Amino acid sequence: MLFDPRLHPRVRDTVTIAARWLFADQLGDHFLDGVDDDRPVILIESLSSLRRRAYHRAKVQLILSALRHRADELGDRAVYVTAPTFREGFAEAIERIGISADQVAVSDPTSYGARRLVRELGIQIGPARGFVTPEEQFAEWVDGRKRLVMEDFYRSVRRRTGILMEGDEPVGGRWNLDADNRQPPPRGVPDLGLPDPLWPVEDDIDAKVRADLDRWEQQGLVRLIGQDGPRLFAATRSEAAAVLRDFVAHRLSDFGPYEDAAMAEDWVMAHSLLSAPMNLGLLDPMTAIDAVQEAYRTGDVGLASAEGFIRQVMGWRDYVWHLYWHLGEDYVSTSNALQAQVDLPEWWVEMRAGDVTANCLSTTLSEIHARGWTHHIPRLMILGNWALQQGYRPDQVTEWFTSVFIDAYPWVMAANVIGMALYADGGVMATKPYAAGGAYIKRMTNYCKGCEYRPTERVGERGCPFTAGYWAFFDRNHERLVGNHRLAQPLRGLERLSDREQVVSEVAARGTSAP
Ligand code: SF4
Repeated sequence: MLFDPRLHPRVRDTVTIAARWLFADQLGDHFLDGVDDDRPVILIESLSSLRRRAYHRAKVQLILSALRHRADELGDRAVYVTAPTFREGFAEAIERIGISADQVAVSDPTSYGARRLVRELGIQIGPARGFVTPEEQFAEWVDGRKRLVMEDFYRSVRRRTGILMEGDEPVGGRWNLDADNRQPPPRGVPDLGLPDPLWPVEDDIDAKVRADLDRWEQQGLVRLIGQDGPRLFAATRSEAAAVLRDFVAHRLSDFGPYEDAAMAEDWVMAHSLLSAPMNLGLLDPMTAIDAVQEAYRTGDVGLASAEGFIRQVMGWRDYVWHLYWHLGEDYVSTSNALQAQVDLPEWWVEMRAGDVTANCLSTTLSEIHARGWTHHIPRLMILGNWALQQGYRPDQVTEWFTSVFIDAYPWVMAANVIGMALYADGGVMATKPYAAGGAYIKRMTNYCKGCEYRPTERVGERGCPFTAGYWAFFDRNHERLVGNHRLAQPLRGLERLSDREQVVSEVAARGTSAP
């Protein structure tokens, strides 16, 4: 029978569950209920999963730190196995406990490979957790729809959960407060002036992970890129809960208005830093949503910020999760509607910010190199936009994003990169490519202030590579996009461009060298 990840074998009640297996992104209490007694919990650390490609060092540090912290918390219940592969680790774990594979329960994992493995092993598989909407409900919502519009999905979840609802109506009378939430960064100041987030305090477990990474690198077992330390993201349930409380108290109010802006000297701005612990399964998204709704109900934060945050978690995060399964395993490898064939250049892969003159791109690469994280605007407006303009290969861009961002997993990046950033699926997710020139970047960020290029110029020494790249993108893809009425304006602008030939030839002359 063909493997269908949407079919969920249910936990069988005829076989006693003797142990539970938690993958490294299933570390919260919400993955244990039902077996929350003294039965063993299997945790497997597998080097083979780290060997497939070069990962950001901070990402590997965070994941292993979280896994080992969980084992430490579970004490004698933890059956912690280090093995070359998950299959070998699982065999060792059940031998140690003295049980058979079908006595182990697991929540359906988050990747195609892991789902295949747990089915082959004959484990009892329960529904996936860590999301607001069960997969069956998404399947019901999809049924009969021509277009899978995020806004429609989000509203259906609001209705079903009653979050930010008054009866059948959204609180405040509007579903979507994006118009209130598109403020540019404040001018004349380097940052939002908010208090520092709550930083985790490292311990011996973090130090041991780091020592192991050094050793594995020296032995050639793994290849890591980027810097790491001190750890900036929550790796335990209590750290995640504390970061949530701190965010709601000190930054949530400013989240909404500035969620679409970026500032060169303020990498956190009003963001929550909760995507990492949420995607590690340490924090139940409903816990975060409830806390934010409560802050709105008590009058501590405005509706625009509360709705903006809840939209990101309950809407966008759940939506891309379900699309990962809905669009299929080959969505990333086969989507290339714009025939983008450029291999990622080395300066990009290795995040060599010093090679890059364009301030927006240099700042973004340096942030990722330092932390394995930037908020969603540099990801989309700078990195995704540049990759789209330059025609970088969608499969390579997706793999790179997944490797370097500390909160990224295959389910996170498939729809975000292929559908949203690169329009590689030809419009399944987005109604038009997210291409932006320097003028838009100037409006929504303060990067241009410190840049040698001029956002309004497109040719010559000071011509902005994003502005030139924007026009070259439409020139190259004119035939493919001409039928899209949402692009009528830029395509008309292209026809009127007096220096179109020069723009295109200067972009071609730069090739894949750093801008
Ligand atoms: Fe980026 Fe162009 Fe602005 Fe420079 S001028 S920061 S390259 S958008």
